[in-house]
Amino acid sequence: MGLFQPVVLSASARVCPVCQAELRSGELACPRCQTLVHRERLDAISKEALELERAGSVIEARELWRSALPLLPKGATQADWIRQHLRELDERIAGNAKTAALDRPQGKPNWTKRLGPLAPIAVVLAKLKTFFFLLLKLKFLLSFALFLGVYWTLFGPWFGVGFAVQILIHELGHVAAVKRNGLKADLPVFLPGLGAYVRWQGFDISVATRAEIALAGPLFGLFAAAGCMGLYLYTRMPVFAALAHAGAWLNLINLIPVWMLDGGQAVVALSRVQRGLLLAACVLFFALTDQKVFLLVAAGMVYRLFTKDTPEEPDTRTMVFFVLLLFALGALLKVIPMQPGRGF
Ligand SMILES: [Zn+2]
Ligand SMILES: [Zn+2]
Repeated sequence: MGLFQPVVLSASARVCPVCQAELRSGELACPRCQTLVHRERLDAISKEALELERAGSVIEARELWRSALPLLPKGATQADWIRQHLRELDERIAGNAKTAALDRPQGKPNWTKRLGPLAPIAVVLAKLKTFFFLLLKLKFLLSFALFLGVYWTLFGPWFGVGFAVQILIHELGHVAAVKRNGLKADLPVFLPGLGAYVRWQGFDISVATRAEIALAGPLFGLFAAAGCMGLYLYTRMPVFAALAHAGAWLNLINLIPVWMLDGGQAVVALSRVQRGLLLAACVLFFALTDQKVFLLVAAGMVYRLFTKDTPEEPDTRTMVFFVLLLFALGALLKVIPMQPGRGF
């Protein structure tokens, strides 16, 4: 078939297009931000295969889907999806052959009968899948407990619980945005002392959608920090002011447009001019709020003025979203009364 070309790693594939991490040859996903190395080729394959299926060329589509598997890391959700889809296509092809041979519609297929002697293996596989799903949940729960424990020990129970819950809300912002875009997301995994991350993947995702998913975390984080501020105003308990401050500050740090930080993922959707405008906004917000964290965001923005990862079209929505988030988080930091010492 003319559809298959050998996979050639182009020079541009040596660096992750999203976070600029260096990629070793043979690596299928960025070790830092999980972006797929063959993203574009995979997008093209899935588009073409779906078109073939729509046109009724199921066998050709199946071959094309198979050619995508070596381009994906073993554990990738897309690989799981393709394997599942291949099974469905196998059934469709087998069904077509049967119908053609017998020239009559087949009776209700029985799952066990259809699989024949392979049925016990399928049952074991299904059980394994549930097991791994539970393991994934366990990873979430255990890492959350460990994260909470660390901050509990360092800063006491109130701050520890409040901080962990804020991080959880931030991560659920990413999960919500991933789901809203019809994609699959794992539960967050917490890294004590660092933060947390959500693994998610999907086909054919625009930089604008990636930016939306990235900024949804700080947006939810803003709500969480504002909620803490509200609780402080209501209860006058200093711990809530401290939580609001820590939350707003951490979400601003997350908007520094570098590495796998949320800002680093979002800035990819912005043109050079827009990055310049964001840089100006950071300087202005620093002048208005005196929050030094804006200088870090500004420094990151200067760096991203020179990276070669600008999109074909500027994305106004992402830029407005980004500026509003910076402003709201900065304003929140400005109005929170700082607690001298650790009085919580
Ligand atoms: Zn990356
Ligand atoms: Zn985030």
